[in-house]
Amino acid sequence: MSETQTDPAWQILALDTGTSMLEKSMLTYTSGFGEIVRVPRVMWVLRGPTTIVVDTSVPMNGRPSEFIGEDFSREAHQVPANALSQAGIDPADVELVLLTHLHWDHAGNCDLFPDARVLVQQQELRYAISPGRFFRRSFLSPLSGWERPPYLVPRLDVVDGQTTIAPGVVVVPVPGHTPGSQAVIVNTRHGRFAIAGDAICTYENIEADLPPGFHTDVDASISSMDLVRQFTGHVLPSHDYAVLSDGPVTEIGAVHAARPLPPIPAAGPRPTS
Ligand SMILES: [Zn+2]
Repeated sequence: MSETQTDPAWQILALDTGTSMLEKSMLTYTSGFGEIVRVPRVMWVLRGPTTIVVDTSVPMNGRPSEFIGEDFSREAHQVPANALSQAGIDPADVELVLLTHLHWDHAGNCDLFPDARVLVQQQELRYAISPGRFFRRSFLSPLSGWERPPYLVPRLDVVDGQTTIAPGVVVVPVPGHTPGSQAVIVNTRHGRFAIAGDAICTYENIEADLPPGFHTDVDASISSMDLVRQFTGHVLPSHDYAVLSDGPVTEIGAVHAARPLPPIPAAGPRPTS
């Protein structure tokens, strides 16, 4: 994918829409057992020729215990509608919602955007409707008691493979965490960034070459991290408070661009056990 002179520079905003406390090994495969870490649930906004939202956070209409039993909390400023308002975004102006994948904490409030087309990879939608038994609660699946998953809105549509969404915004399949995960590659004036979904949960995943700890295919997870490096020099992990360097509404900029991706190691990661 080549960057062209005509690609507009988008502004990326990261919004803090909730906090979870979880065991670190959920984020870094085979590393951090017993260590509890505090992570954000991020909703992203792309502002450019139009307004695009990437991921819609944990549903408002459900108890955390209904999800995956995780310690999740949300203060008033983390309510998605309030966070959008703080960022100066009117949900009615959002033309597109891109879902990196359909897990409970990424695809929960699609009905917040009345006029938006909602796009997900076709393979992800197929899997989410009938996931493997272990993953049913993660997807808010009808098979785990969610009769109508929150991403099943009338304006839901699918893409199949790498797709240019708008000039300067491209989605790329990055399977591994889920079968149909996609990253969103965004051109900005600070360079090109990958919003990686849970293909890259924390900076440590890419800097220590450790795949996320939760996945349907760990080999695919590593390949997808390598693929992201081929597309761009900068990544925005989904569950790392380092992204929210300026607080609950952070504009992605020089701080984030100053964290370049290391090259792909010659050998795989050193096993920790
Ligand atoms: Zn996920």
